[in-house]
Amino acid sequence: MKYLFVLFIFLCAFTVFVMFTVIAEGDIENFILSSEHEIYFDTTENTEDIYIETETEIQDDEIIPGGFITETEEETEEKEIFISVMDAKTGGVNVFELEEYLRGVVFSEMPSSFEREALKAQAVAARSYCVYKIIFSTESSREEHNGADICNDFRHCKDYISYEDAEKIRGEENIAPLWEKVSDAVFETKGEIITYLSEPAIAVFHAISGKETESAENIWGNYIPYLVSVDSEEQNNIEEIRNYATESMFSADEFKERLTSNGFDAGFSGDAAFWIDSSGIVLNSSGRVDRVKICGEEITGRKLREIFSLRSTDFVLEYKNRAFIFTVRGYGHGVGMSQYGANLMALDGRDYRDILTWYYTGVKIDTAYKFF
Ligand SMILES: [Zn+2]
Repeated sequence: MKYLFVLFIFLCAFTVFVMFTVIAEGDIENFILSSEHEIYFDTTENTEDIYIETETEIQDDEIIPGGFITETEEETEEKEIFISVMDAKTGGVNVFELEEYLRGVVFSEMPSSFEREALKAQAVAARSYCVYKIIFSTESSREEHNGADICNDFRHCKDYISYEDAEKIRGEENIAPLWEKVSDAVFETKGEIITYLSEPAIAVFHAISGKETESAENIWGNYIPYLVSVDSEEQNNIEEIRNYATESMFSADEFKERLTSNGFDAGFSGDAAFWIDSSGIVLNSSGRVDRVKICGEEITGRKLREIFSLRSTDFVLEYKNRAFIFTVRGYGHGVGMSQYGANLMALDGRDYRDILTWYYTGVKIDTAYKFF
């Protein structure tokens, strides 16, 4: 009887073992199938009508000094995380499961034709930003967002598009494979964020860097140890990046009119050829324009970017052929991860962890779950 009982237990254990093996093999099969789909579908499709070249700014009150999280013990068990999102158009607030929401964010924030590892880096950066906002949103930030953690305005927080809306714009057959590719990037990094000194990092990013990335301190005045200037790959691959350099031209009258209507009145007398001179253009530590002297008055590079809708503060300003010409490199504020730089690194064989630790100095790839 005793032997029969032992045999019964053995048979049960064996059945459970066989079941698990079959399930695991099924998973592997699904994985291979989805990889084959990746190769089968043409993912180089132009997605520009959906993808918005953008940048995520840090709002004035957003940086909170460290020390708010007291870790009790490492909690890494998977759990659902929810994020409340204000629709910037209607002001209505919806709650999403974070992983689900991120698919629409990554799809919208980065061209889905980009390399898989770049998309994964983007997924982790966006997840970190969201987790930061869920945990650290200030009262005034919540007021701006009708109580929500974040909004879907790309100029303010993160852009987002739902699958249904993307499909309406480009049709199911174009969208489905790209959506699957982006979903995979989110899924394969599920729950991963970057942390600095064990706190979620505010992982801002931008489209294209000129030569090197910008430090947060040069832009927002706060020194953030993981948002400091690093070299970016774009400088070695200028030909491959559409609109790496752009030019904006203004007649002397237009130049003067734009400045004065924006509250910068420097007198502007005499020949326009003498309004600026190269010694009056001061660059900051990352080589971008810090300030410019125009007719003896100083104006910041950031203000000029805003007034003349320049793509970045990495510009050269000259007066040539009776016109003021801005020759601009890159696109965005330049802080944090460069999306095009991330894609070049991925093409070079680097994985998403390499990309993230390159652009965000001193961070760790960590789990979000321990913060919830
Ligand atoms: Zn917002």
